[in-house]
Amino acid sequence: MNLFKPLDNLDDTKADKVIAGDVEKVKCLIIGSGPAGYTAAIYAARANLKPVLYEGLQPGGQLTTTTEVENYPGYPEGVTGPKMMEDLKKQAERFGTDCRFGIATEVDFSGPLHKVIIDGEKVIEAESVIIATGATAKYLGIESETKYAGSGVSACATCDGFFYKDKDVAVVGGGDTACEEALYLSGLCNKIYMIVRKDYLRASKVMQERVANSKNIEILFEHNTKELRGDGVVEEAVLIKHKGQSDESEAVIKIDGFFLAIGHTPNSEPFKKFIDTDQVGYIKTTPGTSKTNIPGVYACGDVQDPVYRQAVTAAGTGCIAAIDAERYLAEKK
Ligand code: NDP
Repeated sequence: MNLFKPLDNLDDTKADKVIAGDVEKVKCLIIGSGPAGYTAAIYAARANLKPVLYEGLQPGGQLTTTTEVENYPGYPEGVTGPKMMEDLKKQAERFGTDCRFGIATEVDFSGPLHKVIIDGEKVIEAESVIIATGATAKYLGIESETKYAGSGVSACATCDGFFYKDKDVAVVGGGDTACEEALYLSGLCNKIYMIVRKDYLRASKVMQERVANSKNIEILFEHNTKELRGDGVVEEAVLIKHKGQSDESEAVIKIDGFFLAIGHTPNSEPFKKFIDTDQVGYIKTTPGTSKTNIPGVYACGDVQDPVYRQAVTAAGTGCIAAIDAERYLAEKK
């Protein structure tokens, strides 16, 4: 989905309205509402930065699409993703964060004040900006994937693997993430099929070797997923072998879990004109900090993390971003 809407596309009336005084000035603007955004808000609010937080397209972020979260410290019995996000939001609001619906559609980070356009019309001028827009897992785009979301389909083995203990599962993808997910699951599940569309893995050699040395991972090269079937939950996957070739054939594997690991898209599109990203689009930060290439603009959570992508690491970097913003504002005084 393209969140970017160039200012040029706005009609003149709206642009005039903006210039005529519809500009809100804030000390600290937080864009995004997963664990990173809310944690940044808790710290920024407690530091009296009076943060305004825009929740984005999916309030609460990716965790609202998972069921049980059992690896976040402090919840001995586990907690559902949506409940955890609700609690984080309440905690951020308790200290005065102004949480609002809306998405950042364009930014202008060229001046001393950072201009952010919300929903293509409202203009905010922020002394500091914390980007916590997360990343979106890629899906295959088949209908049954949506049908069984949360009922056998997951995009995070570390989050949901435990629910498939001793069961048979499949991981789609042939990159480092897919290998990592398959290896993680190999310690929990009975059997793991890796569904790989090419006749080779794209993953690094070391990951390929680890997968090859694992006794319960079977790689199905040159297979694509046609559909998932089951009575309310995933029970089997229909695969196509040698798709589009003369010897194309169908195969069915019995599985309880279907894990997508075909990549993530960092939600950095509206910022790219000003903020440095890597080739994939992950925002570059100075190691050990949340600093981007623009002073006063910070990034935290999955939008800057292609490797760990956990709720707890996102929350940790959210804390870092708020502290970085607070110090920046203190030095400017
Ligand atoms: P990649 O883009 O590297 O791999 C995606 C995989 O999914 C490829 O095998 C690709 O197939 C497959 N794929 C993509 N779309 C489809 C589709 N529609 N149907 C079937 N298969 C599909 O993504 P990753 O998330 O694995 O890695 C992203 C980056 O993060 C990489 O640079 C990686 O090295 C890095 N990373 C590093 C880790 C580490 O250092 N520990 C851990 C995880 C990631 P195909 O090859 O045919 O395109």
